[in-house]
Amino acid sequence: MRYAVLADIHANLAALEAVLDDIRGKGGVDELWCLGDIVGYGPEPGECIRLLRKHCSVCVVGNHDLGAVGKLDLAYFNTAAAAACRWTATRLSQVDSHYLESLPLTLTQGDFFLVHGSPAEPVLEYIISTGIAVRNFSFFDARYCLVGHTHVPLAFKLDGAACSAVSLSPGVGLVVGKKRMIINPGGVGQPRDGDPRASYAIYDSEGQMFRIYRVEYDIAATQNKMVKANLPMTLISRLEEGR
Ligand code: ZN
Repeated sequence: MRYAVLADIHANLAALEAVLDDIRGKGGVDELWCLGDIVGYGPEPGECIRLLRKHCSVCVVGNHDLGAVGKLDLAYFNTAAAAACRWTATRLSQVDSHYLESLPLTLTQGDFFLVHGSPAEPVLEYIISTGIAVRNFSFFDARYCLVGHTHVPLAFKLDGAACSAVSLSPGVGLVVGKKRMIINPGGVGQPRDGDPRASYAIYDSEGQMFRIYRVEYDIAATQNKMVKANLPMTLISRLEEGR
């Protein structure tokens, strides 16, 4: 079985479409999993929800999804993110909002535990260090955990009591073996690792191979829509920087 893993789409329809095209070009997948933050920051929240729902039935909720439907206090967001949340709320249909509200905090799919932020704090904690990662292994039972939230592709491997970070380069396969791991596929709609291309992963269960892909998309098209929507300038410029 082949699974596509997408996180942090952030209402960036051009990026989502490019990633779905790329998946098709690679022969398609059996299932598409989403790790939350479908909306927030970007200019096309409803369009992204509707397109994602056509392809994906396995999805957990992110902090921006909850913020946009009033289920997470905007005090948890910085000024620009909170402004984008308020704008997003005005763009969602009732069906869109109900869908976001219906998403679970966590899901288990076979060997994988899916969560947006961290197993310990599902929509709030960023797993950015081995210290944070190692503590989180005791908060899920599955062998592997898939997270988003940082928008940076990175894996953490547990070996006895020691935890190490494993970098995920585009196209280079990571074989997930017996050791427990926490894996982040990077962000589709707002990458933050210095590479502005959309990031996602495909997991092939036959070879137990996890592979990151980076996809170019029309960044300027998304930025123009953000300008028209009057979204904060900092959110617009960061797309081309990948930060
Ligand atoms: Zn996010």
